[in-house]
Amino acid sequence: MSRVSVGLCLLASTFGVALFSAAPVSAAPPEVPSTEEIFGTVKDLVDIGPRRTGTPEGKAAADYVQRRLEEYGIETHQEHATSYSWAPERWGLQVQGETIDAFPSWHSFTAEPAWTGRFSTGPGGRTAEIVDVGDGAALSVARRNIRGKIALFNLRFQVPLAGLAAAADYLYDPRLTLLRDPVALKQANPYITNYNETVKQLRDGGAVGFIGVLSDYFDSNKYLNEYYRRARANMPGVWVTRTDGARIRALNQAAGGKGSATITLEGERQEAQTNTVVGILPGQSTDTIMIQSHHDSLSPGAVEDGTGTAEVIALAKAFSSLPLSERKKTLMFTTFDSHFTGYQAHDAFRQKWLRSGTAPLKIVSNVTLEHVGLQAVTRQGKLTMSTLPEPRGVFRIGSFRLKRLIERAIVDNRLERTAVLPVDNLGMPTDASFLTAKPENGIPVVSFISGPIYLYDMADTLDKVAVKELRPVAKAFTEVVDGMDDMTPLQMRRGR
Ligand SMILES: [Zn+2]
Repeated sequence: MSRVSVGLCLLASTFGVALFSAAPVSAAPPEVPSTEEIFGTVKDLVDIGPRRTGTPEGKAAADYVQRRLEEYGIETHQEHATSYSWAPERWGLQVQGETIDAFPSWHSFTAEPAWTGRFSTGPGGRTAEIVDVGDGAALSVARRNIRGKIALFNLRFQVPLAGLAAAADYLYDPRLTLLRDPVALKQANPYITNYNETVKQLRDGGAVGFIGVLSDYFDSNKYLNEYYRRARANMPGVWVTRTDGARIRALNQAAGGKGSATITLEGERQEAQTNTVVGILPGQSTDTIMIQSHHDSLSPGAVEDGTGTAEVIALAKAFSSLPLSERKKTLMFTTFDSHFTGYQAHDAFRQKWLRSGTAPLKIVSNVTLEHVGLQAVTRQGKLTMSTLPEPRGVFRIGSFRLKRLIERAIVDNRLERTAVLPVDNLGMPTDASFLTAKPENGIPVVSFISGPIYLYDMADTLDKVAVKELRPVAKAFTEVVDGMDDMTPLQMRRGR
């Protein structure tokens, strides 16, 4: 971000209300449900238990969303695809005979994306010499002989918030709670990591297992990673905390750098049917605004993505209260499955609705809602919660008019600590990415998201939800959808 644009952003953020109060206002958007009601939906989802793909809880979550949409008279169905469940049953780690607390690295021991069966190191585990490859940089791995060995590497979270903020063309931070918070600006999100690149190095080098040290994490090893780009981690892997990583290094050093580790990992990978909920609220045309999140989770999934799903349901209720005469476009409410197991549900949806040429509706824009959470930072290794919302971004592909619409909704609803990031040239880094790959890349997308550090952890419980933000976020995106309803597809598209 240049000095000038920082100035402009600050100006806009400081005087946001004044700047946008003069903008034309169309007919009022519909009322959104209360805070208690939206939070009640999050609670209901968390009460189901981890909503893992291919489990009864995963299915129960889809059925719950479907029932809720039907309550508002919305026509619904579920769509299915084949994904894969990855279920560990037994795991453990010993280093030089000492037991170290470890947690399985999800989707490890899986050589091919379509492989199914049992994975097992055998009852005695797999024992091999440790090779410490540090941050897993290609050069440092290549210089070491890792064949037949267990690699020890640091999982690094690579993009601090300040790095993302640099790509923003708008920031609403009127009280400067974000710009004056260096700890928050330094905090990196837990999903852009060196995992894929390191796993590839280890696989190519012939490692037989890995111990990932959660170097940029708080004192938990319960990091439930996604199946990132379907990484082929063909060896057993476990996560350990930074403290336990230091202990392993000390034990290894005491053994002259030739210490040995035993990884035990046993479980099963099976085909799993995904359950994506699609609700259709007809408008006067088949041009359709799609509003989406995902209901699956590996952890309690309060913020990720109980909140996103609750927001989709809140918008569904709001718009279903309008008469057809006030809905120019059709609205589609979708909650996906397979976010954590490879996005097969998203691929199948794309094939059916965007590529087949036979879809009954034409999706002309998309709103994706994810993660309404409280801010957390790691302080001295501890997860430290704030009462402020986690800084959030609205990734945007679309016109200048769409940008103004988003900014106005942010200001109207005082969504503090919110940046807008144009990603026309970078690609969409969220669950909406499948809509922006070619040839559908003309579809305008507005994707709201935040990246709190606890997002993938068993610590993603109800107390992490930014409860006070649930209704303002619902209101803001009701305004965005309402504004999209008044725009032609061309007016929303980039370059306008
Ligand atoms: Zn999510």
